[in-house]
Amino acid sequence: MNSALFSYIAACPTAYNAVAHTASLLEAEGYLSLCESQNWVLEAGRGYYVTRNGSSLIAFRMPDEDFSGFMITAAHGDSPCFKIKENAEISDGHHLRLSVERYGGMLCATWLDRPLAIAGRITLRTEKGLTTRTVDLADTHAVIPTVAIHMNRNANDGATYNANIDMIPLLGEAAEAGLLRRRVAEAAGVSEDAVQTTDLFLYNPQAGMEWNGYISAPRLDDLQCAFASLTAFIESGKAEAKPANAPVFCLFDNEEVGSQTKQGASSTFLYDVLSRIAAACGLTADGMARKIAQSFMVSCDNAHAVHPNHPEYQDKNHAVYMNSGVVIKYNANQKYTTDAVSAGIFGLICERAGVPVQRYANRADMAGGSTLGNISNTQVSLNTIDIGLPQLAMHSAYETAGAQDTELMVKALTAFFGTEIVMEADGAYEVN
Ligand code: ZN
Repeated sequence: MNSALFSYIAACPTAYNAVAHTASLLEAEGYLSLCESQNWVLEAGRGYYVTRNGSSLIAFRMPDEDFSGFMITAAHGDSPCFKIKENAEISDGHHLRLSVERYGGMLCATWLDRPLAIAGRITLRTEKGLTTRTVDLADTHAVIPTVAIHMNRNANDGATYNANIDMIPLLGEAAEAGLLRRRVAEAAGVSEDAVQTTDLFLYNPQAGMEWNGYISAPRLDDLQCAFASLTAFIESGKAEAKPANAPVFCLFDNEEVGSQTKQGASSTFLYDVLSRIAAACGLTADGMARKIAQSFMVSCDNAHAVHPNHPEYQDKNHAVYMNSGVVIKYNANQKYTTDAVSAGIFGLICERAGVPVQRYANRADMAGGSTLGNISNTQVSLNTIDIGLPQLAMHSAYETAGAQDTELMVKALTAFFGTEIVMEADGAYEVN
């Protein structure tokens, strides 16, 4: 399971590559591609997927007309990294550097002194307009070098990093001017003139590894959950007995920068897709509302495991450990959507599947993080829970998690996709 996870992570250096790769995996399983601008002819029992901006993807299996509701998982495909600005190259006559800005909140120190590669998407001119292409310049490296200890004697006493000075990567020697554009065109298999605009990012190309009960890899937040939910979504579709629900898999871009984009969890993307499924089932607005009331979303994003050197950062009653179960996340201020009902429903599903759960809440004096569940709920409001897998060093260029946990998440979510929820009254649900 973990070697498949590492292959997925290697094929998904940015949200664009993640969507392209996920689409290829779905196609290999017989899922058909849909385009938002076209008429959808949806056949009950078939699987489909649709992308928006090439960086968010929603897949679903078409239900029969009398389905119970939508069973939705949502994870994010983006990770904190450095975006390469459009006028990318900086030369001082000796060095060729890249003009970059931070995307999301990374731990800067972990990006230093390691070979970084470049990936993302570009636009190409066509006869009548443009088309887009994902690229992965896995062999084009850049390094963000630290200053030697001899010149910065305080380097070990708590460093600060100026994004415009300390985090600028070295791409090559000044004589190599034009290197980035040449390599991009090469990777896309086109002439340099054909490349029009770019969305390119630096990423850590280091391979994932399993060691002594743990795994370490880049982008575990949130590709571990993306991979686990995708695997569960695909595998649950192969079950003999099909539940009368509509399984939906979401991979959203832009979680790391607040989700408020046309393709992020704050957009209409999910609502638009669910509406079109409902319309294809012949449902009116009233019928759609009834399905939404019986739907459930699992927002899957990794959680903070107890740090072995710093256990004091955890609430003692809500400390979660790697290799000890799926994490249910709580927050009184609703940064996490979990409430008694959603935790009750999901807890029941896990219990029946034999998957242990752990409960996480921040220390009352720490703000903690946020994720996409509550944001998505502003567009499509339904019972939702926030879950994740425990990990260390979140937003490091190389993160660590439990070796047994991916499998536990797959098991829990496979059971989830096999569940039908029937609402008897507000607060009373059959979980079948
Ligand atoms: Zn995340």
